Amino acid sequence: MSNTFELNKILRPHILSLAPYSSARDEYTGHVGVFLDANENPYGSVTLENFNRYPDPHQHDIKQKLAPLKNIGTERIFLGNGSDEPIDLLTRAVCTPGKDHVIIMPPTYGMYEVSASIHDVEVDKVLLTTDYQINVKAVLDAVTPDTKIIWICSPNNPTGNVMQQEAIESILVNFNGLVVVDEAYIDFTETPSWIQHLDQYPNLVVLQTFSKAWGLAGIRVGMCFASVELIRILNKIKPPYNISQPAQQALLEGLQSVDKKDRMVADILKERTSLCNMLENLALVIKVYPSDANFLLVQFEDAKAVMDYLIQETIIVRDRSRVQLCEGCLRVTIGTQEENTTLIESLKKYQQKNVAV
Ligand SMILES: *Cc1c(COP(=O)(O)O)cnc(C)c1O
Repeated sequence: MSNTFELNKILRPHILSLAPYSSARDEYTGHVGVFLDANENPYGSVTLENFNRYPDPHQHDIKQKLAPLKNIGTERIFLGNGSDEPIDLLTRAVCTPGKDHVIIMPPTYGMYEVSASIHDVEVDKVLLTTDYQINVKAVLDAVTPDTKIIWICSPNNPTGNVMQQEAIESILVNFNGLVVVDEAYIDFTETPSWIQHLDQYPNLVVLQTFSKAWGLAGIRVGMCFASVELIRILNKIKPPYNISQPAQQALLEGLQSVDKKDRMVADILKERTSLCNMLENLALVIKVYPSDANFLLVQFEDAKAVMDYLIQETIIVRDRSRVQLCEGCLRVTIGTQEENTTLIESLKKYQQKNVAV
């Protein structure tokens, strides 16, 4: 246990001393009154529903509902405009452009690298092992005094697997920067969330999203869970009204229907098993990787040709065939039973034409 992590040591100095923008809604938080403080339109909106008032900058009501679901205090929750926003804000909070580095473990989600590149932050890549696990020794060997963030995606996109607990623990203990565990697909696995370890590891940050299990990709809301100190920093550097009023309304409604989310997840898990079985029975499929997410990574004899054929059939999957360690693979999102049947029928048709049996 060599960890001597201190948030103030890795924050960029100007972020630490920054005075945030103070909005009208920060300075007066009451709900009733004559509001002449924010230069809003007093008559209403051009739309049927009124959106003339600025939304709650800290999403108080949503956090009240979310906190018990995640078994964490509201002061340790940050909501962003998609997960993309906390990914961007974390990079900005700790990485000095032109100097600092982050570590990613390909094949993985693309946004960590894009965000670093936008900020002129160097990305050091440590490939996953051939069974898609973290190469802990190689990751720790790649750490330098300029390494500020290690990005871990679990369950990982596009490989679908969960990263071993001991590997993540070892990185948390031996690295004095932020360790971000992106759990966008946590609802599709039995593996527990890292949220429960936040007390134990001050350098741990957990990301989740409303885009997948909750079916709310269109409203763009991502969750970030971390120490009170780090959440305070993210709140300080975020755009003041980063979650729109329609998004907040949809979320409040959605959080009343956890049972609907659970039913959709159960259906997706059932379809995942059935789609996996059907794919495994096709001659043109070499391998279906086990999945703890809402997609399958599938290796084909000729991924490119299958991809082109499916596009002709207006079935769109994600081509990962040129990604290192995913050679020959397509990533297929679990659809409805009907959509999955359409996919399988299409692949059978392709097989009859192209594969000598
Ligand atoms: C889909 C996905 C997200 C979600 O991104 P949003 O911006 O919240 O929609 C985050 N991380 C990973 C790894 C994903 O695959």
